[in-house]
Amino acid sequence: MKEYYKKFESCKICVGSNRSIIIDFDRGLYFYIPNNFVEILNKKFIDFDKIKKKFKNQDAILVEYFNFLINNEIIFKLLNKEDYKKFPPISEDYLISSLVSILIIDGDFFLNNELIDLIKTLNSKVLCIIFNNQVSNKIKKIISIKTEKIIRKTSINEIVLIFKNSDKKNWITSKVDEILLNNIDKILIYNCNIQSEMTSEKLNQYKYQFEDRKINLQNLNLQFYNESKKYNPYFNGKMYINTDGAIQNTPENTQSFGKLKSTCISSDLNKIISSVDFQKYSLINKDKINVCNICEYRYMCLDNRIPKITIQNQWYYNSECNYNPFISKWKDEDGYKTLAECGVISNENGFSIDHDKIAEINKVLWGE
Ligand code: SF4
Repeated sequence: MKEYYKKFESCKICVGSNRSIIIDFDRGLYFYIPNNFVEILNKKFIDFDKIKKKFKNQDAILVEYFNFLINNEIIFKLLNKEDYKKFPPISEDYLISSLVSILIIDGDFFLNNELIDLIKTLNSKVLCIIFNNQVSNKIKKIISIKTEKIIRKTSINEIVLIFKNSDKKNWITSKVDEILLNNIDKILIYNCNIQSEMTSEKLNQYKYQFEDRKINLQNLNLQFYNESKKYNPYFNGKMYINTDGAIQNTPENTQSFGKLKSTCISSDLNKIISSVDFQKYSLINKDKINVCNICEYRYMCLDNRIPKITIQNQWYYNSECNYNPFISKWKDEDGYKTLAECGVISNENGFSIDHDKIAEINKVLWGE
């Protein structure tokens, strides 16, 4: 009897240079698969007999992969071939309800009623407040009064406190219970990577430790996937107010769009946010950026580097990621090589790749 299978619609595939990834958005998991399985999995339904013919002489490998896919609930058996129609594809539309979903305020100077007006104008969902050197007992007061007001009067549903200086972590640790009691969802501490120094369990539970370079691969949700296919999610939907009150897209994109006080009128803000300059990097998604565009992680990757343009009008980054997608190796793994060592050049002059060299390296690393 013929056997038919189908991939769960909650599982989306991202194809990389050397391997691909299946992201299961229902369970927040991902799995690696070989690239020659992508075409099979992307079919409306999988006809096992047909696949067997295609993979003749590789029966054992095929059965092993099918077991892997079934056991990990990536595919399921159809009772009848036509049953695939009962499982329509999940939409990949990216729907937004606000132009600035994440508002970042640098410093506590702006924690007043104007902030509430601003959030209402922007209809933001997440508010990040960055504290620099002014960490003091004042914070508790600010947090308790303002966050309560912000949560009650605006669309904000998540408040994040960001501490730039890791030397304040003892202070944060001692205050964390108070802080977390006041509607704070996350505490981010930059430049803080000594976990053992964190004494509060609660802080460990809530902390996010960042190095200067923030490439974060923990974004296993459909909204992020859909956004990444269309936009660069790091720059998209963000507004940053710097310590002088100047409007920027993000801290990394230092172009100023005027001071907040003089432009707080809703129509002015909408004009700024919709401008080509403000949206410049939002529209440069990872599919358009050299190296990332062949990386299997590109629809789950949050990356704060500013894309640059080559003389041939392509996008690239002028610093290298810790992951080399051509050989599927992270910097701290055995066998890692830089892009240049693999014969890949990506810089202001353009992009070139030595396919033979990469094939040779992958043969040694992976036996392919
Ligand atoms: S190469 Fe690095 S930055 Fe680019 S998509 Fe992959 S993991 Fe992210």
